[in-house]
Amino acid sequence: MNVDFDLVKKYNVPGPRYTSYPTALQFREDVPVAELFRVMREDIASCGNEVSLYVHIPFCKKLCWYCGCTNVPAGEGEAAGDRYLDALEKEIAQKKSALGLELVVRQLHFGGGTPSALSPAQIDRLSAMLHEAFCFAEDSEISVEIDPRTATPEIVAAFRRLGCSRASLGVQDLDPKVQIAIHRVQPEKMVRDTVALLREQGFSSVNFDLIYGLPFQTEKSYARTLDGVLALSPDRLSVFSYAHVPWIKPQQKLLEKAGAFPSPDEKLGILKSVIERLTRSGYVYIGMDHFAKEDDELAHALRERRLQRNFEGYSTHAGLPILGLGMSSISQSARSFSQNEKTLDGYEALVGAGTTPVVKGLILTDEDCRRREIIMRVMCDLQLDFAAMGEKLGGIDFEKSYARELEKLRPLAEDGLVEFRDGGLLVTQTGRLFIRNIAMAFDAYFLPSAAGMRHSKTV
Ligand code: SF4
Repeated sequence: MNVDFDLVKKYNVPGPRYTSYPTALQFREDVPVAELFRVMREDIASCGNEVSLYVHIPFCKKLCWYCGCTNVPAGEGEAAGDRYLDALEKEIAQKKSALGLELVVRQLHFGGGTPSALSPAQIDRLSAMLHEAFCFAEDSEISVEIDPRTATPEIVAAFRRLGCSRASLGVQDLDPKVQIAIHRVQPEKMVRDTVALLREQGFSSVNFDLIYGLPFQTEKSYARTLDGVLALSPDRLSVFSYAHVPWIKPQQKLLEKAGAFPSPDEKLGILKSVIERLTRSGYVYIGMDHFAKEDDELAHALRERRLQRNFEGYSTHAGLPILGLGMSSISQSARSFSQNEKTLDGYEALVGAGTTPVVKGLILTDEDCRRREIIMRVMCDLQLDFAAMGEKLGGIDFEKSYARELEKLRPLAEDGLVEFRDGGLLVTQTGRLFIRNIAMAFDAYFLPSAAGMRHSKTV
């Protein structure tokens, strides 16, 4: 795949990542929580009571200066973790009672923060809570985000006992100079040992998260990181462009003093070499920032047009409602989104007072649902068949109903990012890199004038 620098310069503008549509910016505080649960209950029931669970563990032992996640310092001792599990237990009971359904878990993901900041005893307690509250499908897929700095054999074994078989490792960069600059020191040997530990303990899928655009990174230094990464043969890779948004995440200001950021051309050079190197090494470019081995389920799902996008990025679990648990987590169903209180104190106070921690949300209109389907299919299938999409959206004339949106894509077609052909739209190889720009054409809420303060850049 070729990366055209001029095109990147032209299209690298702020825009949503479309892990949801409408995006979280549209969530509102005045939507009655009872109504959100009513809609979610109906949507879950129409999926045979099957759900994906997301559990947010917010604690981090040390704050990485590039971080854009919702987290809190772990402090010393286990008291904060214990209190948090008390709150989670109450939230699970509240949400189960609000939904009034016996839920079957097909997929469970622990994200953060740092799930591996919990102690083995706390992980066992969390496991008991979840298994007591929910029925797990026999082939349920359970995954966890692991920080190599906290991954002791006991912690990894506890997640394994809970049923985890997939791990995402925060690697970011293997260069010691970059690691010092970003305040996340984890020597390459530590990463290697963690991968060996996960594989020894039976994790069948080990994924890496990397970031480019950090201080001191160059094409040359990143090539060395890729050497080290590829030697460990991760099953999937997410290679994120660093989003510098210090007005939203003030600790990112510290990075400005830590060292020089790569120039825009250097950053593009890194991106180009990442894509070329990974695709040459047998990884399939799934889309945006995701890569997977040829035989990975994500690559199969891409070929078979079964991919979905949700708050974790690309997923193979087609359309299952997601029940979010823990501070800041987002629940999602066919026609609703609801988000929990974002601060730890606020979350614990609400749950402690017997109130559900949902503080905002959205009930989708029919038009929201139609546009979500279009954006999802463009981003996951990399093509649209106008007649089939019109049929799927209730027998509409797609080209007529979305003539304005298709018109917006004409200049992108002239630049070779999409092709109009055979009654449809095809995202080209080059266009994959600009998939967010293509999806933006169908976003009824996107305001380019306000995007700079709200979104990261698209490439
Ligand atoms: S990057 Fe991960 S480990 Fe680092 S502060 Fe953010 S959530 Fe915590």
